[in-house]
Amino acid sequence: MHRRIVLALVCALGLRAQFHAGAGSRLISPDVQDYSKAKVYLAGFDKDRKATGIHDPLYARCVALGVGPAKASPPLLICGIDSIGLFWDDVLRIRKALTSRKVVYKGLIVAASHSHQTPDTMGLWGPGEKTGIDEKYTSLVVERTADAAVEAIRRMVPARARVVTVRSPELDRFIDDDRPPKRHDSDVVALEALDAKSGKPLAVLLNWANHPEALGSKNKLVSADYVARLRTRIEELHLGAVAVFANGALGGMQSPLGAEVPGGLKDGTFEKADYIGARVADMTCAALDKAADVEIGKVEYREKMIRIPVSNAGFKVAMEKNIYNGRKAWNPDGTTTTVVGMFRLGTVLEGATVPGELYPELSMGGIERYRGADFPDAALEPAIKGSLMRAPHRMLLGLANDEVGYIIPKAEWDDAAPWLNGAKKRWYGEVNSVGPEAAPLIAKALAELFGAN
Ligand SMILES: [Zn+2]
Repeated sequence: MHRRIVLALVCALGLRAQFHAGAGSRLISPDVQDYSKAKVYLAGFDKDRKATGIHDPLYARCVALGVGPAKASPPLLICGIDSIGLFWDDVLRIRKALTSRKVVYKGLIVAASHSHQTPDTMGLWGPGEKTGIDEKYTSLVVERTADAAVEAIRRMVPARARVVTVRSPELDRFIDDDRPPKRHDSDVVALEALDAKSGKPLAVLLNWANHPEALGSKNKLVSADYVARLRTRIEELHLGAVAVFANGALGGMQSPLGAEVPGGLKDGTFEKADYIGARVADMTCAALDKAADVEIGKVEYREKMIRIPVSNAGFKVAMEKNIYNGRKAWNPDGTTTTVVGMFRLGTVLEGATVPGELYPELSMGGIERYRGADFPDAALEPAIKGSLMRAPHRMLLGLANDEVGYIIPKAEWDDAAPWLNGAKKRWYGEVNSVGPEAAPLIAKALAELFGAN
């Protein structure tokens, strides 16, 4: 009898410690029948670029990751959405939608893919000085992302996991960088969850840093850009999996535009976008197929609210003209409130969430001191992947839970002449950044979250 009780206890504990995963997916394409009569402003390039149609469907996709069933242990939700960027105000609406549906979770990360062929959810790409936000559409994104999260939890089952980091010169060649230092974070980091009983793929969460803007500024069709083919290819190779994409450190300026691909495929074509997406998927699946299962006995998530001083005059004007349509309220001290986070799966995978477009040297290390910098004596921020994380596999989710623009190392900040490295004209970057304090404050908060100080 005694032995049986012990056995039952061990079994119960064993069950509770079992990794569980599930995935959910919802369409977030604009609800438009006739594009000639609609005003869908595509975000990311010039203002007032109205969509004339749709090329491929947009998605909100979530994975739910936990140890034990969701009822016993609230899961972490990681959602990837086909969107230029979603502000913290709207992420809060998604969290409230979950709470009102009595969903209990450990954390919710909503990472925007930053596709430049999706409807304007930030307001910056409307006509003239008007907001480009269509509130009906933003509400659709909020509701359906919540739906995808609920579905992910509902589908959670005992699961096995594999994690890979794919490093390859080919991945690096898909990224063109127009500002020194030419530093990329081109590794693909992917987590695959498989049904513990059947071995069937459940989900692949893939993290890679490159602007989804291969289709360029002349395109007028709604699209997820290279992410569309990336996902369908993963789902062809790993049948049953829901592919979830999260972008990475893509600031300053990690872009497929200008990157050469075999066959001379040109910028601004679906062929180039599809080629990149398919190759990233192929390399990831090949690595996953060879990977051994990993133990995930614990899922952690922590986040921290921070206030960043806003020095960008353009952001202030946008705020005054209500371009964000009621979002991004200023604090009385001239700061904006945003959020950073960390997650950890067992001892295998760590991840950071940053609320914008991080310069890769802030993640990998390699910040440079150039002549002409505005703050030549600024302390160098600790490298997020390079020194704050310890796990063998490291994700950095960009545009996660907010979008404050470029996050530039303070030592490389350059808003006043002379320009960095003796350049004749201003470098591109600061114009789309909240200010020089963004990087030090985000790095400090992450150092606290990772316990590294
Ligand atoms: Zn960008």
